[in-house]
Amino acid sequence: MEEGVVIDHTILKVDSFLNHQLDISLLEEIGKEFYTYFKEKKITKIITIETSGIAFAVFVATYFGHIPVVFARKQESKINNKDCYSSKVYSFTKDKEYEVRIDKRFINAEDHVLFIDDFLANGQAILGLLEIAKQANATVEGVGIVIEKSFQNGRKRIEEKEVDLYSLARIKGFVNGKVVFVEE
Ligand code: 5GP
Repeated sequence: MEEGVVIDHTILKVDSFLNHQLDISLLEEIGKEFYTYFKEKKITKIITIETSGIAFAVFVATYFGHIPVVFARKQESKINNKDCYSSKVYSFTKDKEYEVRIDKRFINAEDHVLFIDDFLANGQAILGLLEIAKQANATVEGVGIVIEKSFQNGRKRIEEKEVDLYSLARIKGFVNGKVVFVEE
Protein backbone atom coordinates (compact mmCIF):
# COMPACT_ATOMS: atom_id res chain seq x y z
CA MET A 1 0.00 0.00 0.00
CA GLU A 2 2.89 2.35 0.71
CA GLU A 3 5.24 1.57 -2.14
CA GLY A 4 3.11 0.21 -4.99
CA VAL A 5 2.54 2.58 -7.91
CA VAL A 6 -0.63 2.20 -9.96
CA ILE A 7 -0.30 2.62 -13.73
CA ASP A 8 -3.23 2.99 -16.13
CA HIS A 9 -5.69 1.88 -13.40
CA THR A 10 -4.76 -1.78 -14.00
CA ILE A 11 -1.03 -2.34 -13.44
CA LEU A 12 0.73 -2.21 -10.11
CA LYS A 13 4.45 -1.49 -10.07
CA VAL A 14 6.24 -3.00 -7.11
CA ASP A 15 9.78 -2.29 -8.22
CA SER A 16 11.03 -1.28 -4.80
CA PHE A 17 10.56 -4.69 -3.19
CA LEU A 18 9.58 -7.43 -5.70
CA ASN A 19 10.31 -6.66 -9.36
CA HIS A 20 13.57 -4.70 -9.44
CA GLN A 21 15.00 -4.15 -5.97
CA LEU A 22 14.32 -7.21 -3.83
CA ASP A 23 13.31 -7.11 -0.18
CA ILE A 24 15.02 -10.29 0.99
CA SER A 25 13.22 -10.51 4.33
CA LEU A 26 9.91 -10.27 2.49
CA LEU A 27 10.99 -12.91 -0.06
CA GLU A 28 11.92 -15.23 2.79
CA GLU A 29 8.50 -14.73 4.37
CA ILE A 30 6.88 -15.40 0.98
CA GLY A 31 8.86 -18.64 0.72
CA LYS A 32 7.82 -19.68 4.22
CA GLU A 33 4.15 -18.88 3.64
CA PHE A 34 3.92 -20.92 0.41
CA TYR A 35 5.70 -23.78 2.15
CA THR A 36 3.26 -23.64 5.07
CA TYR A 37 0.27 -23.76 2.74
CA PHE A 38 1.55 -26.50 0.37
CA LYS A 39 3.75 -28.56 2.70
CA GLU A 40 1.47 -31.63 2.86
CA LYS A 41 1.92 -32.12 -0.88
CA LYS A 42 4.78 -34.19 -2.24
CA ILE A 43 6.36 -31.47 -4.35
CA THR A 44 9.49 -32.37 -6.33
CA LYS A 45 10.08 -29.08 -8.17
CA ILE A 46 9.22 -25.41 -8.01
CA ILE A 47 8.50 -23.96 -11.44
CA THR A 48 8.34 -20.29 -12.31
CA ILE A 49 8.87 -17.96 -15.28
CA GLU A 50 11.93 -15.78 -15.71
CA THR A 51 12.76 -13.24 -14.33
CA SER A 52 10.85 -12.00 -11.33
CA GLY A 53 9.59 -15.36 -10.09
CA ILE A 54 13.07 -16.81 -9.69
CA ALA A 55 14.04 -14.97 -6.52
CA PHE A 56 11.16 -16.07 -4.34
CA ALA A 57 10.93 -19.50 -6.01
CA VAL A 58 14.41 -20.08 -4.54
CA PHE A 59 13.14 -19.31 -1.05
CA VAL A 60 10.13 -21.61 -1.51
CA ALA A 61 12.46 -24.39 -2.70
CA THR A 62 14.72 -23.88 0.29
CA TYR A 63 11.81 -24.44 2.68
CA PHE A 64 10.84 -27.59 0.77
CA GLY A 65 14.29 -29.03 1.56
CA HIS A 66 16.29 -27.57 -1.33
CA ILE A 67 14.33 -29.13 -4.17
CA PRO A 68 15.19 -27.79 -7.67
CA VAL A 69 13.76 -24.62 -9.15
CA VAL A 70 13.09 -24.58 -12.88
CA PHE A 71 12.33 -21.31 -14.59
CA ALA A 72 10.56 -21.32 -17.93
CA ARG A 73 12.41 -19.22 -20.45
CA LYS A 74 10.62 -16.57 -22.47
CA GLN A 75 11.28 -16.54 -26.17
CA GLU A 76 9.95 -13.96 -28.59
CA SER A 77 10.78 -15.67 -31.83
CA LYS A 78 9.47 -19.10 -32.67
CA ILE A 79 12.52 -21.31 -32.91
CA ASN A 80 11.42 -24.88 -33.33
CA ASN A 81 13.19 -26.70 -30.55
CA LYS A 82 12.30 -30.38 -30.19
CA ASP A 83 14.12 -30.64 -26.87
CA CYS A 84 11.68 -28.31 -25.14
CA TYR A 85 8.05 -28.27 -24.13
CA SER A 86 6.55 -24.92 -25.02
CA SER A 87 3.39 -22.88 -24.91
CA LYS A 88 2.27 -19.50 -26.22
CA VAL A 89 1.50 -16.80 -23.66
CA TYR A 90 -0.08 -13.42 -24.21
CA SER A 91 1.53 -10.79 -22.00
CA PHE A 92 -0.93 -8.46 -20.34
CA THR A 93 1.63 -5.84 -19.36
CA LYS A 94 3.59 -5.87 -22.64
CA ASP A 95 0.63 -6.45 -24.98
CA LYS A 96 2.44 -9.06 -27.04
CA GLU A 97 2.67 -12.81 -27.40
CA TYR A 98 5.70 -14.80 -26.39
CA GLU A 99 6.55 -18.43 -25.87
CA VAL A 100 7.51 -20.09 -22.61
CA ARG A 101 9.76 -23.14 -22.79
CA ILE A 102 11.13 -25.75 -20.47
CA ASP A 103 13.79 -28.22 -21.51
CA LYS A 104 12.39 -31.78 -21.51
CA ARG A 105 15.21 -32.84 -19.18
CA PHE A 106 13.84 -30.66 -16.38
CA ILE A 107 10.16 -31.65 -16.19
CA ASN A 108 8.82 -35.17 -16.57
CA ALA A 109 6.05 -37.59 -15.60
CA GLU A 110 7.60 -38.30 -12.19
CA ASP A 111 7.42 -34.63 -11.19
CA HIS A 112 4.91 -33.11 -8.79
CA VAL A 113 5.23 -29.40 -9.43
CA LEU A 114 4.29 -26.19 -7.68
CA PHE A 115 3.98 -23.15 -9.93
CA ILE A 116 5.00 -19.81 -8.47
CA ASP A 117 4.62 -16.34 -9.98
CA ASP A 118 4.67 -12.72 -8.88
CA PHE A 119 1.35 -11.53 -10.36
CA LEU A 120 -1.89 -13.10 -11.50
CA ALA A 121 -3.87 -10.99 -13.97
CA ASN A 122 -5.67 -12.94 -16.70
CA GLY A 123 -3.89 -16.19 -15.95
CA GLN A 124 -2.06 -16.47 -19.25
CA ALA A 125 1.37 -17.17 -17.77
CA ILE A 126 0.07 -19.91 -15.46
CA LEU A 127 -2.10 -21.43 -18.20
CA GLY A 128 1.07 -21.62 -20.31
CA LEU A 129 2.84 -23.50 -17.52
CA LEU A 130 -0.17 -25.81 -17.07
CA GLU A 131 0.03 -26.61 -20.78
CA ILE A 132 3.72 -27.47 -20.43
CA ALA A 133 2.99 -29.73 -17.42
CA LYS A 134 0.36 -31.49 -19.52
CA GLN A 135 2.83 -32.06 -22.36
CA ALA A 136 5.32 -33.48 -19.83
CA ASN A 137 2.67 -35.57 -17.99
CA ALA A 138 3.79 -33.92 -14.75
CA THR A 139 1.37 -33.59 -11.81
CA VAL A 140 0.47 -30.03 -10.83
CA GLU A 141 0.13 -29.80 -7.05
CA GLY A 142 -0.74 -26.12 -6.90
CA VAL A 143 -0.19 -22.53 -7.91
CA GLY A 144 1.22 -19.88 -5.58
CA ILE A 145 0.85 -16.22 -6.50
CA VAL A 146 2.26 -13.27 -4.58
CA ILE A 147 -0.15 -10.59 -5.85
CA GLU A 148 -3.49 -11.51 -7.41
CA LYS A 149 -5.48 -8.81 -9.15
CA SER A 150 -8.88 -10.29 -8.38
CA PHE A 151 -10.67 -7.85 -10.69
CA GLN A 152 -9.16 -9.73 -13.64
CA ASN A 153 -10.15 -13.27 -14.51
CA GLY A 154 -6.99 -15.29 -13.85
CA ARG A 155 -8.37 -16.94 -10.71
CA LYS A 156 -11.48 -18.09 -12.53
CA ARG A 157 -9.43 -19.58 -15.35
CA ILE A 158 -7.13 -21.49 -13.02
CA GLU A 159 -9.95 -22.73 -10.79
CA GLU A 160 -11.70 -24.03 -13.90
CA LYS A 161 -8.70 -26.35 -14.28
CA GLU A 162 -9.31 -27.59 -10.70
CA VAL A 163 -5.88 -26.50 -9.53
CA ASP A 164 -5.26 -25.43 -5.93
CA LEU A 165 -4.53 -21.69 -6.11
CA TYR A 166 -3.14 -19.73 -3.18
CA SER A 167 -2.55 -15.98 -3.48
CA LEU A 168 -0.88 -14.02 -0.70
CA ALA A 169 -2.33 -10.59 -1.51
CA ARG A 170 -5.64 -10.25 -3.31
CA ILE A 171 -6.41 -6.88 -4.84
CA LYS A 172 -10.05 -5.91 -5.34
CA GLY A 173 -9.21 -2.78 -7.28
CA PHE A 174 -7.41 0.54 -7.37
CA VAL A 175 -9.21 3.60 -6.03
CA ASN A 176 -7.60 7.01 -6.54
CA GLY A 177 -4.28 5.34 -7.23
CA LYS A 178 -4.44 3.30 -4.02
CA VAL A 179 -4.67 -0.45 -3.55
CA VAL A 180 -7.90 -1.88 -2.12
CA PHE A 181 -7.65 -5.50 -0.96
CA VAL A 182 -10.32 -8.22 -1.14
CA GLU A 183 -11.85 -8.64 2.31
CA GLU A 184 -11.38 -12.24 3.40
P1 5GP B 1 -1.34 -13.04 -16.56
O1 5GP B 1 -0.50 -14.02 -17.30
O2 5GP B 1 -1.98 -13.63 -15.34
O3 5GP B 1 -2.32 -12.35 -17.45
O4 5GP B 1 -0.36 -11.91 -16.06
C1 5GP B 1 0.62 -12.24 -15.13
C2 5GP B 1 1.98 -11.86 -15.61
O5 5GP B 1 1.99 -10.56 -16.16
C3 5GP B 1 2.95 -11.87 -14.43
O6 5GP B 1 3.93 -12.85 -14.65
C4 5GP B 1 3.54 -10.49 -14.41
O7 5GP B 1 4.86 -10.54 -14.90
C5 5GP B 1 2.74 -9.66 -15.37
N1 5GP B 1 1.77 -8.76 -14.71
C6 5GP B 1 0.42 -8.78 -14.84
N2 5GP B 1 -0.14 -7.77 -14.17
C7 5GP B 1 0.87 -7.11 -13.55
C8 5GP B 1 0.92 -5.96 -12.69
O8 5GP B 1 -0.09 -5.34 -12.33
N3 5GP B 1 2.16 -5.57 -12.26
C9 5GP B 1 3.30 -6.23 -12.62
N4 5GP B 1 4.45 -5.77 -12.12
N5 5GP B 1 3.29 -7.31 -13.44
C10 5GP B 1 2.08 -7.75 -13.89
